[in-house]
Amino acid sequence: MNTTRRKFLKISAFLPLFLTIQEAGAQTNPSLRAEFKYQGAPKGDMSCAACLEFIPGNKDAGRCRVIPGDDEISPNGYCTKWNSM
Ligand code: SF4
Repeated sequence: MNTTRRKFLKISAFLPLFLTIQEAGAQTNPSLRAEFKYQGAPKGDMSCAACLEFIPGNKDAGRCRVIPGDDEISPNGYCTKWNSM
């Protein structure tokens, strides 16, 4: 077996695990989103990016201190727990 094929087989063996971990990172908390009337758009000047509860993420989404278990909070989102103080 040549080296290139051996490397390909090693990478292929771990690919499903890698994809599972990537998908496991994307989760939402539907019940708290509903309770706090979370929406994906800002309300006037109030957006998650300007809220003290927002924790920026690596991509276009982040997390929120009052909606645990949710890493898909949009910086452009809003909910009734918006906090500036
Ligand atoms: S409390 Fe509401 S407005 Fe503030 S970051 Fe969390 S979801 Fe966004």
